[in-house]
Amino acid sequence: MIRFTVRCAALVATSAALAAGALSFRLSAQEYDILIRNGRLIDGTGNPWFAADIAIVGDRIVRIGRLGDATARRVVDATGMYVSPGFIDLHSHADRAMTFEHLEARRAKSLNSQGLTTVIGGPDGRNQTWPISAEIAALRSQGHAMNFVPMVGHSTVRGEVMGDDYERPATPEEIARMQALVREGMESGAWGLGAGVEYRPARFSTPEEIVALAEAVAPYGGFYVAHQRSEAAMPLWELPSTVSDWPVDGNQGLAETVSIARETGIRVVASHHKARGRSSFGRSGQDTLVVNRAREEGLEVYLDVYPYETFGGGARPMIPRWSLVHDTVDTSGGRDSPVYSGEGMFDDARAHLQRRWADPELRGLIARDIEWIVDHNGGPDRVVVVGYPDSTYVGRTLEELGRRLGVTYQEAVVHMALEGYPDVLGGAWTRGYGIHDADIINYYRQDYTATASDAAVSGVEDVPEFASRPGAHPRHFGAFTRKIARYVKDLKAITLPFAVRSMTGLPARIIGLEDRGFLREGYKADLVVFDLARLRDRATVLEPDLFSEGVDYVMVNGVFTVDDGGFTDALPGEVVLRPRNSTN
Ligand SMILES: [Zn+2]
Repeated sequence: MIRFTVRCAALVATSAALAAGALSFRLSAQEYDILIRNGRLIDGTGNPWFAADIAIVGDRIVRIGRLGDATARRVVDATGMYVSPGFIDLHSHADRAMTFEHLEARRAKSLNSQGLTTVIGGPDGRNQTWPISAEIAALRSQGHAMNFVPMVGHSTVRGEVMGDDYERPATPEEIARMQALVREGMESGAWGLGAGVEYRPARFSTPEEIVALAEAVAPYGGFYVAHQRSEAAMPLWELPSTVSDWPVDGNQGLAETVSIARETGIRVVASHHKARGRSSFGRSGQDTLVVNRAREEGLEVYLDVYPYETFGGGARPMIPRWSLVHDTVDTSGGRDSPVYSGEGMFDDARAHLQRRWADPELRGLIARDIEWIVDHNGGPDRVVVVGYPDSTYVGRTLEELGRRLGVTYQEAVVHMALEGYPDVLGGAWTRGYGIHDADIINYYRQDYTATASDAAVSGVEDVPEFASRPGAHPRHFGAFTRKIARYVKDLKAITLPFAVRSMTGLPARIIGLEDRGFLREGYKADLVVFDLARLRDRATVLEPDLFSEGVDYVMVNGVFTVDDGGFTDALPGEVVLRPRNSTN
């Protein structure tokens, strides 16, 4: 008891979170709030597990060790189970749900049940609310289950300064105004700059603009995390003839990210990094060479990678859009161009396709473009039908379907577009496995690769925006558990402590968090307790909304959000603000 009092006194000195009055009440009542006994502790450093108990008071870990006959208000027996720091997601789309009024959205069960306790904001360079102070206020006003790390979104500040007139490089004066907004965000407690330079409006920014904004976070010890300009040999979805202004080298995105570290000296993350498309298979060898050389040069370059061979954007048709739209539509704009969202644009899509398919010359172009799109989604043996009126098509690859119908796979794609769902573009939901496991494994074996989900809250059935959708990506329910289930347990590609480190200590280091990401006395009590034997993701492409198994306890700031395998109603998440004087 005496020893514990001394430790707690030290904690009080360093933590305003533990009010002295509350502490003395606790000491007179019980020694600890929560005791997790007999677990195998994986501390987040990459070290192998060790047997110990963990004691929690308030929102902090206060003791780690063999705690003998210590008592607590609540004791969890973790015999045979692993205890790790809570998982931290470097690329999360949870921000929208976390500020939503609906309680179920803010519980974020699909993510929290994977063991996620902390997510970062500003995904793909966008803030839900601006300024950051308003985003923080929105989060705090209602409460949320997971912790939130605010980030300044590049696209958000670019939009604030340039408005609709953004299809051009920013002027020096505009860049200066953006820098001021970035500084304002950092002063409000953000941890760095998030970007989505493949998307509008950021894709029109020059590398100089991004460097200038990254320089603005440097004095605060901030970092840069990017959805990069390109991940495929060419941007997905677009035809070669429409993408003359796009980078054609899949490595250009990574080169730009590395150059930002070189120009500014800050930590950079190539986010949800991947070698996308059949022609990019194997590119991880080149990418890891690039990152290793950069790190030898003294640049802090990191990756985060999600554990799926299929990527985001939902299930998609494998047919060129130009074959389905009105003749007058201008297709020169590139990805997410406004010309693709005109109302009535796809009216009579089947009639347009039928007419063009009957024209021998256009038929050849359509077949060529289907081949191009399918290759960028992994190839005909890796694109799977996930939704079609004839259920015997579902689960088959395009190659299998072509064989079964006695036609080429391109003809099978057109057949589905003409005969399938009348209200679904392309007639079918299809999903490509456009990333190769060999590349994922290669990235995962690097010590600079963190884990990400790129997932949003899903499965909230009474809120359409967050409800399960057919064809949704399984990562919304299974990303972090899948990394362990597939790459540790099934494939034995990496060790458990190395995987846990990539989800905890490493992202905490990258962000600059000072009291999360590791199992340490004095650290915030963000914990996951899991049964490795049972641990697995269940969500699949065909059934994307199944919860993972084996994560039996999730604790956020000393409060269980998952307790003995069931959800609690607790919303203990905090907005984690960068300490004012922190320069990391
Ligand atoms: Zn992204």
